[in-house]
Amino acid sequence: MPANSEQTKSLNVDREAIRKAFEKQQKSGDAADRESLDRLLIDHALMAMQFTYSPYSEFPVGSAVLSKSGEVFLGCNVENASYGCTICAERTALVKAVSEGVKEFDTVAVVCERTKDAWPCGACRQFIAEFGASIRVVVEGSDGTVHVNSISELLPHMFGPGALGK
Ligand SMILES: [Zn+2]
Repeated sequence: MPANSEQTKSLNVDREAIRKAFEKQQKSGDAADRESLDRLLIDHALMAMQFTYSPYSEFPVGSAVLSKSGEVFLGCNVENASYGCTICAERTALVKAVSEGVKEFDTVAVVCERTKDAWPCGACRQFIAEFGASIRVVVEGSDGTVHVNSISELLPHMFGPGALGK
């Protein structure tokens, strides 16, 4: 990676717009408000994707995680020469949130540069499910529409905190 390639990249995270869109949707319960919020999250996931470190797979991924209090956390995939140490974008975003004291999540948005309908891998589904079966997962479909599934739909019969009595 050229040393100066990072200089043209920037994150313009519009936390206020996301918080307002979230509050509006929570009040209205309106499907159109929900879709605008999901689009906003997808836009932020795309922004996060620009910082991907994926020299091995060349498969850039970005994620934007929305907390239940309307905060947003971004992540990209970060690969490693050992391969096994690689972390996916959505886990990066969740780890950032948890390490800042946030553990309740509303939505996880994921985007890939090379494909649409890029749903989280099995490891990420397990990771997301840890924080609640109702968390929404949002991807952009190949038809351009926003696709949404709850994590319990993506990971049925999940092994979760309940199995350990938590
Ligand atoms: Zn993953």
